Amino acid sequence: MKTIGYAAQSASTPLAPCHFERRDLRANDVAIEILYCGVCHSDLHAARNDWGGTVYPSVPGHEIVGRVIATGPEVTRYAVNDHVAVGCLVDSCRHCDQCHHDEEQYCRHGYTGTYNSPERVTGENTLGGYAKHLVVREEFVLRLDKGLDLAKTGPLLCAGITSYSPLRRWNAGPGSRVGVIGLGGLGHMAVKLAAAMGAHVTVLSRTADKLADALELGADELLVSSDADAMAKAANRFDLIIDTVPVKHDINPYLPLLDIDGTLVIVGQVGPVSEPSTIPMIFGRRRIAGSLIGGIAETQEMLDFCARKNILPDVEMIRMDQINEAFERMERADVRYRFVIDMASLPAA
Ligand SMILES: [Zn+2]
Ligand SMILES: [Zn+2]
Repeated sequence: MKTIGYAAQSASTPLAPCHFERRDLRANDVAIEILYCGVCHSDLHAARNDWGGTVYPSVPGHEIVGRVIATGPEVTRYAVNDHVAVGCLVDSCRHCDQCHHDEEQYCRHGYTGTYNSPERVTGENTLGGYAKHLVVREEFVLRLDKGLDLAKTGPLLCAGITSYSPLRRWNAGPGSRVGVIGLGGLGHMAVKLAAAMGAHVTVLSRTADKLADALELGADELLVSSDADAMAKAANRFDLIIDTVPVKHDINPYLPLLDIDGTLVIVGQVGPVSEPSTIPMIFGRRRIAGSLIGGIAETQEMLDFCARKNILPDVEMIRMDQINEAFERMERADVRYRFVIDMASLPAA
């Protein structure tokens, strides 16, 4: 199937239109017309080879929402015109212990990413959702409830599940006290989801500027992390802190805020953070953990939860040809809170 998308041809060139082909449908494949695709920080890092290993041409995009346009002969879960979504995973080994208990993101043999991964059958580099069409095996396709606003749903597939999974793993809910560091694409979803689960939610921010935004998103309060007195008073106050800061930063000020057995979960920065002191860990059995997106079953659970509770990200819609400008604005954190590309703006292949 011929399609068109936006690709980076090298680490230093802007994204530009690119014609390419999606594979012929295999027995279990679903062909999707992409309607919307969210813009994730990882897309920018991949396009610019910030983490190394980018294969060019690179078509980013893993917050994909669309409509089924064809199915392989053995597909049972989806039919033409169904509204569907695809997140960060398009395949895994499907046989290891992790895959068997629905955590394909931790597949022992490595998951297949929606972009920049070797496809499991052909070895070809996968190309993501900044395109008109996508072909994915049905086990990695998510179902969208009719009630969800498709234009806003995309960011749930990465920012949403990345926040949802640790909130579930560490039992956020009524009576639990959750802190969220950073109020970007990830952080604003963490606040909305934790509040919807019934937790008491505090946004941790360097200044009080974001108080009104935090309350509007559903937080109960804002703690100013540059205020030493306020931070001292907040000692032992949290069961769980979700750290969404996407760059190297100092986590030491946050550890004493955790209660005994509390956990700080890092979901933003992939790479080094400042050297943590073990003192709060030893004197309080506090933990530092990380968490990577979520499995397919949990992603479906999250989408169903969001449909039921009417939780959607705050998005800014852009045309495909505005993507390079959007990358620059995202780097400056100049977006509330996620860009979504309207694929109707991309001409037909
Ligand atoms: Zn992402
Ligand atoms: Zn596996």
